[in-house]
Amino acid sequence: MKKQLSNVTIATRPADQGEPVDRLMLKTVNELALKHGDLLFLNYASVGNQQNLESSQSSEAGPELPTTATAAQVFQSVKQSALDDQLDKDPGMITRPRDPKMCCHGDKGMCDYCMPLEPYDASYQEEHKIKHLSFHAYLKKLNSENNKSGGSSSYMAPLEEPFYGVAKKCPGGHPPWPAGICSKCQPSAITLQQQSFRMVDHVEFADFGIVNTFIDAWRKTGLQRIGYLYGTYQRYDAVPLGVRAVVEAIYEPSQSDELDGVTLTLPNDEEEKHVDELAKAAGLQKLGVVFTDLLDAGKGDGSVVCKRHVDSYFLSSLEIAFAAKLQKENRNPCRWSTDGQFSSKFVTCVISGNLEGQIDIASYQSSMSAEAMMDADLIEPSVNPSVMRIKEPTSTRYVPDIFYKKINEYKLTVQENAKPAFPVEYLLVTLTHGFPEKPAPLFTPGESFPIENRGHTGVSQDFHAIKKQLGNGTRLEAKDIADFHFLVHVTSLGILSGEESRLLVQAAVSKNEEDLYLLSQSPGWQSLLTIASTQ
Ligand code: ZN
Ligand code: ZN
Repeated sequence: MKKQLSNVTIATRPADQGEPVDRLMLKTVNELALKHGDLLFLNYASVGNQQNLESSQSSEAGPELPTTATAAQVFQSVKQSALDDQLDKDPGMITRPRDPKMCCHGDKGMCDYCMPLEPYDASYQEEHKIKHLSFHAYLKKLNSENNKSGGSSSYMAPLEEPFYGVAKKCPGGHPPWPAGICSKCQPSAITLQQQSFRMVDHVEFADFGIVNTFIDAWRKTGLQRIGYLYGTYQRYDAVPLGVRAVVEAIYEPSQSDELDGVTLTLPNDEEEKHVDELAKAAGLQKLGVVFTDLLDAGKGDGSVVCKRHVDSYFLSSLEIAFAAKLQKENRNPCRWSTDGQFSSKFVTCVISGNLEGQIDIASYQSSMSAEAMMDADLIEPSVNPSVMRIKEPTSTRYVPDIFYKKINEYKLTVQENAKPAFPVEYLLVTLTHGFPEKPAPLFTPGESFPIENRGHTGVSQDFHAIKKQLGNGTRLEAKDIADFHFLVHVTSLGILSGEESRLLVQAAVSKNEEDLYLLSQSPGWQSLLTIASTQ
């Protein structure tokens, strides 16, 4: 890189040879005696080794557009999830039956009225009230516009993550931000709009008991609760090329619960890592977060207050910022994006009162604009939950013009200045949620092993609980161990070896008799039973 920079020179007059960039890099604008409005002239000697330049480009983060070769390299090298690979290959065409009124051809014929539709067909989306296109339908739409020929030589990455900061590498040749800025590296104005697509379409809880057990913490204490969702991402066929998050368990990290919210206590990395690893061994991953916002309506009939509705907010500015932060921590690998990743499949669910006063679930994601604005440190939550504040510019924070588009009282689309604060709905993507028609949860539903970190409700995970969980039966049964909270606890005790822990998780998930037998005969399991039996 250094060698190439010395090939680039900057001069204040066009005929001058100028100074190599690498000699100017650490100097301030003052030291260079540059004044506002000075014209600078950039010269460069041609670089012999193009390959070298490309590899140095791709190794550094920044919003710079990569060359076609780099986009193709990203396409080849990024490892996506198996689900994304499968959806990539699926054309997702929406088939339609022969229309008896409009089609004037035989059974085997086809016409405009019965021809299959593209997965992103706008009239289909409207007819079926699909609020956002599925990510893969959106991607197919972009590819149909940008990569028509399908030839790899003309391939353009259809996706690019928004970046609202000052470009990290500026061709303007000035010292890097915050020492210098020019029209080339300053972020352009941001115009916020509703995001047209969503990374996940639907959240499905594998069994109602999972949610019910979670809400129990509030029922017992009146205090709010937060948990992480574990499960799998699968196809969701109710929308073209859809994705659903199927929740098999909710893990409740250490937290301090209040009447009006929760605070995550110092993140216990050890604990979180253990849960993630255990989930992985069970074929699961962290899908998102869920929290309660419940308040008894005081009518004595179990009804709750509806706080979140169209005239207040659905997700507060604080929660949107929290969701965006978690989404940034859980990136979505994507071969179609210039930098090999695109947004996140991390979901955020709220359990609160609906318009009928019933306890209900709502599922969301923060938009990519929210992720990018958080990333560039442009926004902060407001005390008013329905608006997000734009931060003030400082010597190190460049805040571009920010607008949002809205439909005014005359039904006209108008552009409003978003400063100093704007409605949170521009940062929110809505998902649907539900339960399967025929539940087949991975873990035994019903009365479960005590939930972790619930000391304040009077339950604890101990050997007494283990004894109760395993019962007095002589034969180990899958239903006894098929409990996520039990698995997390037992594998954290240090009684089972790593191999025995894997066997335990495998037996709990596979429900295989041979695995169960092997586990029951293992020395670690025998020790566990011995200790538990003395309780
Ligand atoms: Zn037809
Ligand atoms: Zn610049």
